[in-house]
Parts: sequence; C-alpha cells; structure tokens
Amino acid sequence: MKQIWHRAWRIAAVLILCAAPSAPAEEAARTFGAIDDQRLLDAEREPQSWLTHGGTYLEQRYSKLDQINVDTVSRLKPAWHFELDTTRGQEATPIVVDGVMYTTSAWSKVYALDAKTGRQLWRYDPQVPGEAGPKPCCDVVNRGAAVYRGRVYVGTIDGRLIALDARTGKVAWSVLTVDPKRMHSITGAPRVARGKVFIGNGGGEFGGRGYVSAYDAATGKLAWRFYTVPGDPAKGPDHAASDDVLANTARKTWSGKWAEYTGGGHPWNALVFDPQLGHLYVATGNGFPMNPHYRASGDNLFLASIVALDADTGKYVWHYQETPGEAWDYDAVQDMTLTELTLGGEQRSVLMHASKNGYFYVLDRRTGKLLSASPFVPGVSWATRIDPATARPQVSENARYENGPFTSSPGEGGAHGWQPQSFSPKTGLVYFPASENSTLYLPTPTYEYVEGLDNPGIFHGATHGAAAQMPARPGPAGKAVPYKSYLLAWNPVMGKPAWRADVAGGGTLVTAGNLVFQGRSRETVMGEVAAFRADDGKEVWSYRTPNAVMAGPVTYEIDHEQYVAFMAGAGGAGIIAGGATVRARQVGRVLAFKLDGTDTLPGDPPLAPPVVLPRETWNAAVVEEGKAHYARLCGRCHGLNMRSSNIVPDLRRSAALADKAAWKSIVLDGALRSQGMVSWSRYLTPEAAESVRAYVADEARKAAH
Ligand code: CA
Repeated sequence: MKQIWHRAWRIAAVLILCAAPSAPAEEAARTFGAIDDQRLLDAEREPQSWLTHGGTYLEQRYSKLDQINVDTVSRLKPAWHFELDTTRGQEATPIVVDGVMYTTSAWSKVYALDAKTGRQLWRYDPQVPGEAGPKPCCDVVNRGAAVYRGRVYVGTIDGRLIALDARTGKVAWSVLTVDPKRMHSITGAPRVARGKVFIGNGGGEFGGRGYVSAYDAATGKLAWRFYTVPGDPAKGPDHAASDDVLANTARKTWSGKWAEYTGGGHPWNALVFDPQLGHLYVATGNGFPMNPHYRASGDNLFLASIVALDADTGKYVWHYQETPGEAWDYDAVQDMTLTELTLGGEQRSVLMHASKNGYFYVLDRRTGKLLSASPFVPGVSWATRIDPATARPQVSENARYENGPFTSSPGEGGAHGWQPQSFSPKTGLVYFPASENSTLYLPTPTYEYVEGLDNPGIFHGATHGAAAQMPARPGPAGKAVPYKSYLLAWNPVMGKPAWRADVAGGGTLVTAGNLVFQGRSRETVMGEVAAFRADDGKEVWSYRTPNAVMAGPVTYEIDHEQYVAFMAGAGGAGIIAGGATVRARQVGRVLAFKLDGTDTLPGDPPLAPPVVLPRETWNAAVVEEGKAHYARLCGRCHGLNMRSSNIVPDLRRSAALADKAAWKSIVLDGALRSQGMVSWSRYLTPEAAESVRAYVADEARKAAH
C-alpha cells in the first residue's frame, strides 16, 4: 500500500510539474556560473557582470558602466528587493553573471536570484549548528561567494568550504577546513584562480593559528596550506607550504610563550590573486594574546602583514609587515587593490592598502618593497611615522603599554575595517570609510588563557582598579580621540586626501558615471544608500532604506538597464553600537536600484517592545558581580555595557528576564542553542547566571525610566 501511495505521489508530482506554467525558453537556456579563467582575466571588458569579489582580479570595485551618472542619478529608484530570512548582519558582495545574482547571507546561506527581478532561483542553507555562533568575533556574517566553472563556493561559520552546483544549488563537494574543536570560523569570501579555491579563516581573538588553504576547485582536494605564524616547536614542522619560511624567517621573530596560545595572524578577509605575477596576496590579522607582553617579544611574523605566495604552490614570495610586534588589534586584513601607478616618474605595479592601523600603504607587488606609507586619519599615535629608509614604523614610547596604560589612536575599532575600498582609474582616487577613534589599552596584571573566550591580556575599557598595578614610573599615556567617521577619497600618488564627505558609511563602489556609491545607517538599524561625485565628493543622491547598509555595493547591466545592488542589514561589529532608540528586529534584504525603478521598499521597523521588569530585586553586590560576568561573556554579542542595537537580542527586552527558570534554561541549559545562544555553564555557576539577570534587570530598570 505504502509503495502504491509513493508511486501515486510521484505521478502526481510529475503531473503538477507538467501542469505548471512552462518555463520560458530563455529560462531553460540560461547558463549558470559559466565563469572560466579567461572570462575572469577579461572581466574588465565585461562591465555588465560582476564576476569576482572585487569586480575583477585587481579588486578595484570600479565599473565602466555609466548609464547611471551624475546627470541621471536623481532618477535612481528601487527596482526590486528580496527578503532574507535572518536578522543578523549582511556583509556580502554579490557575484552577478548571465542574469543571475549569487549572494550570501548571515549563517553562511547562499542565494541565487534573478538579477533583473529578484526572484529566487534557489537557496542553500549549510545548516551551520547554532553552537558555532559564538566562533566569529563579530556576528555570524559572510562576505560573499566565488563563482567558477559552474560552481558556487562558500565558506561557513563552522569552517567548511562548500562547492555548489550553480544551476541547482546542490552540494558538489564539502570539506572541513578547520579543527572543529577550536574557535575557528570562516566569514570571508573565497577567491578562485587557475583551478584552485583559496580560503582563510578567523579566530585570532580566541587563541588560534591562522592559515590560508588552496583546494582543487573540481574535487575539493587540498592543494596546499600556508600557516601565517610558526607552530609549537615541540611538535615539529607542519608539512605545509609554509614550513621553510616559518623555520628560516618567521620563527626567530618570536620569543615567548606564544606556542601555548598559538599566536593568531588569521587571514579572515582579503585574499587577492595577481594575474600578472601569479601571486596570491594574503592579508593577516592581529596577534593572540593581543598584549605582546603575554605573547612574545619581537616582530612576530607574519602577524598584521601582507604576504605574497605563489598561487600554484603556496610557496612564500615576499612579505611586508605593517604592524611589527602587533599590540592593538591592528588586523591588516582590509581589502587590497592592485593597479599601475606612476611614482617618481616610474611606472610601478602596486598593491594599495588602507590598513586598520591608520596608514595607507603602497607596495611594489613584484617585490613587496614599501613605496609609500602615509597616515590617512589625523592623530595616529601608536607610531610617529613609517621610516622610508627601513620601511618600519617608529613606535611611540609606551605605545605597547609596557609601562602602564596607553591610549592609542586608532583604537581597537581601527581607522578602516573590512568594508571594501574602491579605486577609479579615471580619478586616480581610492574611496573607503575612515574612522578616527582611540582605545585605552590597559594591561591586565596577570594573564590566564581561558579556552573559548576572548582574552586579549588587556581590560576592555573597564577600570577594574588597575591603577593599583601601575608601575612606579609609568610611561606616556597617550591621548583620547573623539570618534568620527567619514568617506575618504585618497590620492595614492600624493599620499594625501583629495576630499572627504563627513558621513559614516560602509564599503564603496565607483563607476565611470563619476559616482561613488556607499550605504550607511540611520539610528543604528535603518539605513540610507547614497552616491557622491567621484571627483569632488559632493553627495548627489540618497535613498532611505529600512536596513542599514555596511557591505560593498555592486553594479551590473541587464537588457540595457544598469542596476546598483546593496546587501542591507546591520550587524557585524556594529552589534555593539546601540542607538538611543531600540527597534524591533527585522530581516536583512537585497536591494537593487535602477533608473525609474518602480519597487516600493518596506518601511522602517517599529520600536522594540518595552523592557520587561522582573519582580525580584537584588543587592548591589550581586548586580556588580553580574556586570563583570556580562562584560566577560555576554557583551561581545549583546552589546558592551548594555548598549544594544537589538540585532542580537537586547536582553533588557527579553521575556526571559522576568522568569528565573526561563533565564536559566537559556543561559545554562542552551535552550536557544540553535539560534547561536549556546550554554555558558562552562563559565557560569547557577548563582553567577542569576547575577547576570540581576545586572540586566538593573539596566532594564534604568532604561524604563
Ligand atoms: Ca581582530
């Protein structure tokens, strides 16, 4: 009987399929992911597509399309929008080819959309377990896919690299690229070239050892791996492409206990293939622990560096370390842009990098030689300059807080983050969001490595009575810098700004229409997309959006119409920056604009529900204890000092706050683990979990008044 029913169901299904409106012939003829090496090499000649993460291999994020230009941009309106299924942060750069947009969303989900209409063609959910949610430093984001030879490649929060059939979204192969027991994650976009897929990983906030891997694009077989920092000498070589250079060059720049904590140096964002030289440029992250006093003395290669590898073999070619002896969370992972520049009358093949440490670097990409380094924000205080003779920074006295606290600029937030930069060969300018900020680096008097926690060896801005630990003769303390963020147009030849627009925003796109596109936020979670004249920075267009926009926009053309598309959704590191008003959570969206578009975007989300106060009260000592636990365990996602934007829930508004049993079931028993809220019973006793509730309730009471 069961068999018959099964057959009957199948017949019915076939009938339903046949009865459905027949797909247009053009649909059947559509090609999916037909990107080969030649097409990638010629990407510049195909501006109607967006073939690779940075537009072309040079990662300039420049488009020759100019239907949308300074004169027509006032007619730019929404063409379509697509609702995602998650409220978490959106950081992807979509790939657009042959009328299909391949993009990724939070929790490493992949979508294929009709790029003309926004209609979903397929969706792939890698089912990242909620337990992996706390592994990335800053939300369960993903910065995009790579498309190559009929496949779509994505890295996942739990460290898998997955190849999907570009037509169907079905898994072709999947490999685990990390040790699942460690706090490794993938948020970066893979890159593809010469039959290989390149992928890095994150984890430098928790004690990890960074590496980049190359996999055979067809089979998923590991081709080579390059570790960015040396391993434990007691364990011998890794039998990896990095063995020789780590043993002969990097190893001697580390002396201390790093091997216990594994050093850091994760390449979690930018990897750039150089089609002229066959290099893969790998941009590496901060050291672990961040406080070098507890890590190792010396330069600590290859932390906070750009390392050039042979893309075919993974063998070392050259490196340039931007921040030797890294001590400030100065990841050097920002996007890199390749071009030719005439410098001092000589044409050079260069790599351009607006680093988190506040300097804009121009490197000779044949040799790694430093051609120039100029501070792009005022008030950079960790170094006084980069000495052109030695190519090294002159680090300020006590900047590594070895003799007491130092307030460094930029701070942990950095002068420039992962938000992609763009470069226009027409204007010769590089466009990126820049920030002025500072952090008080207050070293902890002792250090204890706790597996699974962010433990940098400095206090995160808290006072903790550490003054008692101050040395008798403290060094210079540095100076706080008020927070400011703006869009900067940088002249890489002159080493100075051409213009700046005083609006804080995300990644950029520049076009032959003399326009720079950028998204931004309003009241934290709502947003606006805008266009600026590329030559002088005048804002010529803006459009309000329900979601804030952080990601880099893309542009493409279908049926003689140019589109500009944005991944919209706040989150990422922004989850800690709560606004004055807290809004209800809302899903992220893909937003596409064209001239005279007729779509209507959803309105702003409503205010979040009011705080729910528990009936119980606690004494001040319990509240204080809860505050300390919250700062150590909860603030990274739910908002430091309870400044929550409610992307990850604002705990003051949690229904569980007034319910002791519900609170315990979530905090200690992991009731919401599928959403990324894991059990913290490893670090909290039942009394401690209750003290966190006391602290949150105390803050809720303050917010209610
Ligand atoms: Ca970092």
